[in-house]
Amino acid sequence: MTERTPLIAGNWKMNLDHLQAIALIQKLAWTLNEKNHDFKDVEVCVIPPFTSLRSAQTLIEAEKFELSLGAQDISKHASGAYTGEISGAMLSKLAVKYVLVGHSERRQYHNEDDSVISAKVAASFSSNITPIICVGETQEQLQEFGPSAIPVKQVLAALEGQENLREFVIAYEPVWAIGTGEIATPEQAENVAVEIRAAIGQKFGDVAEQVRILYGGSVKAGNVAGFMQGANIDGVLVGGASLDSAEFAGIARYKKHIVL
Ligand code: PEP
Repeated sequence: MTERTPLIAGNWKMNLDHLQAIALIQKLAWTLNEKNHDFKDVEVCVIPPFTSLRSAQTLIEAEKFELSLGAQDISKHASGAYTGEISGAMLSKLAVKYVLVGHSERRQYHNEDDSVISAKVAASFSSNITPIICVGETQEQLQEFGPSAIPVKQVLAALEGQENLREFVIAYEPVWAIGTGEIATPEQAENVAVEIRAAIGQKFGDVAEQVRILYGGSVKAGNVAGFMQGANIDGVLVGGASLDSAEFAGIARYKKHIVL
């Protein structure tokens, strides 16, 4: 069986200025270091807004923190007259390792469709940044199409026609569970992850065994361990709870939790 290093990623969304970001990263790293967290065993990634990336990078490098850095979006364009956009090359200069692509809030509020998302995945690959491709169904879609049809379709659309396939991560985030306090059961998440992995396997073969599949949607320190027991769940994408260093550190330390 392929060993996949679990990834615990915190999406801060549009929260915290760069000074607050520095304080949160410091507290998080200190908490985890104090508990002797093994970052090679469970990878921990912070995903602040663009305005905090430079400060986060400088701090992480200066203090030799073992945290990974992610960005919340990437332009599908490489450079040029695209006011307000941030390119992959700019992100990789800031030591950004991961980028969220196709988060449901981008799909909903910025009308990002499959073709935009696939172009952003391609832009990530060209910049050597690992996309965390976010997929998930709304409550209505769940009722109409069942649990895995929409996420599987979105995964395949994001990967369609990629000429330069490199490492990627999938985050299964049911839209109805994001920021709502509602949560999928570990069994629901595992079942969808199985279907996603099978679909990737059908299309791309052995790559599927290496792909990390995360669950996201109202994850907290108190419920993370159940998800992480799924054989096909390789981590979590955390929104709200990642803004609290103690709570997020608790999520990263899920192996220490007693699972009843
Ligand atoms: C998210 O923003 O990807 C997310 C899962 O948010 P929350 O954990 O707050 O539901």
